[in-house]
Amino acid sequence: MVSLQQIYATTNLFLNTLNDNSILYYKNIVDLLKDSLEEAKNIDFNLETTTRMTLENKIANLNDFYQKEQININVNELISNGTINFICYENYLVGCNYYDGNHRVIDVSNNGLLMENEILVHELSHYQNQTFNGRGEVNNMLTEALAYFEGLVYLDYLKDIGYELDALELKKYFILMLQQELKRCYGLLKMLWCFSNMGTITKKDYQYFYNSQDNEEITTDYLENLKYFYQSYQKNFPVYRDIWLILTGLLTPYMYNQSQLDESFKKTIRQLNTEINVLSLDEVLKKLGIDDINGKVFDLSFELEKFIREVKNEEEILRRKRK
Ligand SMILES: [Zn+2]
Repeated sequence: MVSLQQIYATTNLFLNTLNDNSILYYKNIVDLLKDSLEEAKNIDFNLETTTRMTLENKIANLNDFYQKEQININVNELISNGTINFICYENYLVGCNYYDGNHRVIDVSNNGLLMENEILVHELSHYQNQTFNGRGEVNNMLTEALAYFEGLVYLDYLKDIGYELDALELKKYFILMLQQELKRCYGLLKMLWCFSNMGTITKKDYQYFYNSQDNEEITTDYLENLKYFYQSYQKNFPVYRDIWLILTGLLTPYMYNQSQLDESFKKTIRQLNTEINVLSLDEVLKKLGIDDINGKVFDLSFELEKFIREVKNEEEILRRKRK
């Protein structure tokens, strides 16, 4: 059993690695994104109707996608040189990207589903901005936003070649992933913000700090956020994972919506695969047309709302078509 004192000491150590405003800053961003996610209230997804496909055809489909998008990736070559490994995790649809020495490796599940290609496109996006000697801070913050963006571009490709239902279900899956993860991030940040002000995270202090009445609602909120806090504590507060997700929620829908309006924006985004390794965060954001992130947070959170509305529209159109 760890003592509360040990937990507090670790939390303090973690907080010392952030600048004073970070927690409140990210907490406020997630707060806005949570409002936008209200739009997703009635969304659910169903992967039962997903298309099955042989590995050979899945690979041919990916090569076609990269060719159409003029991205220089040869999937066959990456398989034969051991970069991509297909693994059958039963009932699991996952991918991961890591280093083996300084060799970049991707493991991805193959359960014979077309949708697993989206996971591979996501991982191959990470691969494209992974340098041989690790990721820097800006890269760590933005690689996820880029990977989810490329995944969405792939879903539009699927839609164009007739896999409308797969594309739609996976877009909904993306929204629900954001919803779930940002809820967790928000709970964690709320706890950390309380801790950095009060020095404790007892229910009484939490309630006092957030100025709440003692009722069932605050108890549920507190217990749930405490759970997120402990989960994060157990993993030693993997801060980049949370910032990745927050910036994904903020930037991916924006990048996607913009590239729908202007196809050439995709090129700007893909240049970031190199630039996130050499430029500062502000410089990278400027390339995306975001001069002042603080002044733009509200507009950017609206992009998420717009994205969700579009997905719901697509669903409605598809539903009518299939009647
Ligand atoms: Zn990822």
